[in-house]
Amino acid sequence: MKTIIEPFRIKSVEPIYFTSKDERKLILEKACYNPFRVHARDVLIDLLTDSGTSAMSSNQWAGIMQGDESYAGSSSFFRFEDAVNKITGMPLVIPTHQGRAAEKIIFTILGGKGKYFISNTLFDTTRANIEFSGAEGIDLLCEEGKHPTVPAPFKGNMDVAALVKTIGEKGAVNIPMVIITITNNSGGGQPVSMQNIKEVSKVCRENNIPLFIDACRFAENAYFIKIREAGYAGKTIMAIANELFSYADGCTMSAKKDAFANIGGFLAMRDLDLALRCRNLLIITEGFTTYGGLAGRDLEAIAIGLHEVMEENYLQYRIRSIEYLTQKLMAAGVPVMQPAGGHAVYIDAKEFLPQVPVDQYPGQALTAALYLEGGIRSVEIGSLMFGKYGEGGKLIPAQMELVRLAIPRRVYTQSHIDYVAEVIIDVYNKRNEITGLRITEETPMLRHFTAKLEPVKPY
Ligand SMILES: *Cc1c(COP(=O)(O)O)cnc(C)c1O
Repeated sequence: MKTIIEPFRIKSVEPIYFTSKDERKLILEKACYNPFRVHARDVLIDLLTDSGTSAMSSNQWAGIMQGDESYAGSSSFFRFEDAVNKITGMPLVIPTHQGRAAEKIIFTILGGKGKYFISNTLFDTTRANIEFSGAEGIDLLCEEGKHPTVPAPFKGNMDVAALVKTIGEKGAVNIPMVIITITNNSGGGQPVSMQNIKEVSKVCRENNIPLFIDACRFAENAYFIKIREAGYAGKTIMAIANELFSYADGCTMSAKKDAFANIGGFLAMRDLDLALRCRNLLIITEGFTTYGGLAGRDLEAIAIGLHEVMEENYLQYRIRSIEYLTQKLMAAGVPVMQPAGGHAVYIDAKEFLPQVPVDQYPGQALTAALYLEGGIRSVEIGSLMFGKYGEGGKLIPAQMELVRLAIPRRVYTQSHIDYVAEVIIDVYNKRNEITGLRITEETPMLRHFTAKLEPVKPY
């Protein structure tokens, strides 16, 4: 088989800026060891997120020029609505400025004290919006998903037996919604199988609980179903997406992921009554129902991106590029989550830095080391992001301590990725020198975005 190449050529380039290790040492200190606080210009390869960082296509840029900026009834909205409709089969489409705005609306309406939202794994903004409403979020990830280095085809699946048990314990009336995140971002970008979605849907219908899909990476998930699940090899991504959404009552989506847009999101659903309540809130918080916090040009770019993302040459290259980096790291002995996920490589920081205890945030310590060594920006998905405080201020750690290297869509080439692998392997070879971090300042919610930290021992 020949090399799987980037299925595009480059028409417009953007420079990246080089810094020395001494400069990065100072930058890191000034940023309080939190990559979110580093200026993007000081980053060489930015793998902080795949969100809103996609390179748009020439078609999308052309669409930007055609955006209809009418306040009400913009043609761009109808093209957007049509794209969402064709993929999800959901008749009621509500544009929002990003995924979390869709979450804020739906959980404000359905959340509240005494309510439980069950998921395979809630993404951080989803969980925050649920908790902000007073409700509780419960993650029921399948057993395979909890073992980062044990490969399995669908590690993003929900534990269906645990779902049945939890519904029994909490009572179906107290569960306004079950949410399946595809692919499972916090759980490693791992896919969910069609079979699992079908089974969860069946349980939800038997208990009269609506099932929503957090659809941020629906196309990547659909591609995994195509190549890994029996019976789907001959189906198009569109057909797989159609089937997958047919089991759900609604979805939330961040267009900053699998729509190649730099901003945007939506809510889509089948229940008119719920949609009317959502639209009332939308008008207060986002904007009128045909633009919802977006410009007409954004709606246009999203409509085009939603179709482009389902092209199989693209998805083959996309999934392969993540696998390529994963395999390079594995070959050097770096503990990575296996198999490769859909949008990111996840390093198991607990195993990478066994000398750093969880209350010294091994994941965060590793993100600092990768920046220092090679100007690479990554993000901790572990106890800084998900940790809680128990009795006496003692840290209740997250299930896993991961570092995520999210690959922006259509942005970096193979040589960029080769460089990333070289830096990580260098850091791995001197991992014994890395020390832990302690928090010096934090906020009560989503603290990882703004927290300040310092090394427990000087660098
Ligand atoms: C990014 C993301 C969100 C939130 O979307 P934003 O556009 O960043 O607000 C929700 N769920 C998942 C799985 C995501 O990856």
